[in-house]
Amino acid sequence: MIITKPRDWSRIFANLQSVGAKSVFLMGCGQCATVAKTGGEPELEAAAELLKAEGYEVTGWAVGEVACHLGGTKLETRKRVGDIDAADAVVVLSCGAGVQTVAESVSKPVFPGLESVFLGNVIRAGVFEERCQTCGDCVLDLTAGICPVTTCPKGLLNGPCGGMWDGMCEVLTDRECAHVRIRRRLAEQGRVAVKVVAPKDHSAKLKPGALNLRDRKTPSAGSGS
Ligand code: SF4
Ligand code: SF4
Repeated sequence: MIITKPRDWSRIFANLQSVGAKSVFLMGCGQCATVAKTGGEPELEAAAELLKAEGYEVTGWAVGEVACHLGGTKLETRKRVGDIDAADAVVVLSCGAGVQTVAESVSKPVFPGLESVFLGNVIRAGVFEERCQTCGDCVLDLTAGICPVTTCPKGLLNGPCGGMWDGMCEVLTDRECAHVRIRRRLAEQGRVAVKVVAPKDHSAKLKPGALNLRDRKTPSAGSGS
């Protein structure tokens, strides 16, 4: 899921002032931002109260099922067209992908209400960790299912670096070195570590990524099929 954190409200207020907005419609996301407790119903209610305290009129708010789903977001905004028409601007409490689907669905100025920070694994309720950066050239087959690109703070494919001490990471000193973990898990599975993981093919991470299952082809991001 996409992990988000609250955006500095001074930036949101500055955005609203930039278009002379006096009234605002709020949108959230029923998926990631709800789980991250940044863009669900309680957070939208709190945002509405904050806006009102600053003198803004809040014409309404809605938590779409999945903010990054263009069709669903268009449907949601059509349902709330009166409230959105009555607003001078829309503030979206979702990741940047959701902000863009809302911006595509309404004609009003749309502003982000959150910061998108990483693709997170849910470790347990309320605890998230970045484990993958969607690099397009995965090495997990060589690294026992532990991503060195993401979980080594230096992103080293081959390690450990010279700073590793007694199995611990020199950057995140309370954590075991990612490469120590990789080698231990490989050894536990009776597998031999490759001497050198080859440099990554960064062309595989060309942006923007796109996938069209309707045409049964993956036309970008260097997918090659
Ligand atoms: S190697 Fe790339 S695709 Fe594989 S887990 Fe790491 S960042 Fe993600
Ligand atoms: S100690 Fe290990 S995990 Fe930490 S920066 Fe060096 S190689 Fe990466």
